[in-house]
Amino acid sequence: MISENLFHAEIAKGTYLISTSAFGPTEDGRSLEPGSATANSYLIVGGEKALLFDLAVDEEGVYEYAKNLAQKEVMTVMSHGHYDHVYHLNERDEAWIHKKDEYLLREGMPIIGAPPVNPCPKLHELEDGDMIRLGNRNLKVIHIPGHTPGSILLLDENTGILFSGDTGARRLLFGVSGEVNLDDFCKSLERLRQEKFQVMYSAHDRCALPKAHIDLMLGVIRKEVEAEWVEQTMPGVGTFMTVKYGRENEVTYFDMSRLVD
Ligand SMILES: [Zn+2]
Repeated sequence: MISENLFHAEIAKGTYLISTSAFGPTEDGRSLEPGSATANSYLIVGGEKALLFDLAVDEEGVYEYAKNLAQKEVMTVMSHGHYDHVYHLNERDEAWIHKKDEYLLREGMPIIGAPPVNPCPKLHELEDGDMIRLGNRNLKVIHIPGHTPGSILLLDENTGILFSGDTGARRLLFGVSGEVNLDDFCKSLERLRQEKFQVMYSAHDRCALPKAHIDLMLGVIRKEVEAEWVEQTMPGVGTFMTVKYGRENEVTYFDMSRLVD
C-alpha cells in the first residue's frame, strides 16, 4: 500500500524530493519553503539504476512510490542509522550504510526507546570516497562523523547538489550517537566547502540550502557569529548546550544541540 500523503518534487532532472503532506513547513503540507522540520527522502535516477537516499518519511510505501517514479531498480542508501531515517527498512532485502552506523540498526537507540531494525536487511558498507555508479551518473560518498559516527553525504557533481542528510543541515544534533571531537567536525566541514556543489538538500528541510550555509554553521559553532548558547537538561539523556540563530522561516537559520555530558 502506498500512502496518499506522499508527494514529490523534481528538484533537478531525474532528482526527486519525496515527502509527506502530513506535516509541512507551512500550512500547505507540500510547501518547499523554509519552515519547521520536515522529513524527506531523495530519489536519484541514473541511466541504469536509481538510488533512494534515506527512508526518512514515516509513511507506508515510500520505497514502492520511489520505484514507480524511477521505473528501474532502486538501491536503498542511508545517510546514517538513526531510527527516523530507516522507517520500513525491515521490509527491504538489502541496503547500503557506512559501517560505523551499522550498530544503530542492530541495537536501535535505547536512550530514546527506538528499537533495532528487525529483521535487519543484508547491509553493504560504504566508505569515504566510494563512487556509487548509477549509469551516466556517479555519486561520491563523503563521510563526516559528528551527528553519528558513520554519517555520510552524497555528492552529485553533475547537478551541483550535495545530499547532506542531518550533517549539512539547519538543525544539528551533535554528540548523542558516539563521541566525535567538535574541532574535527569543523575541519570536516571546511573540507566539505572545497567540494564542487552549489546547493545542499537535507533530510529535514525541503528548501535548498546554499553552499554558504556551511559558513553559517561554522560561524555559529565557533562562536564567531553572535548567538546565545543555553544549557538544557534532558532527563535520561544528558546535558546539552543549545543555540539558535535566525528564524526558521528564513533559509539563514541554524540551531544546534550539543551533548556535553
Ligand atoms: Zn539523525
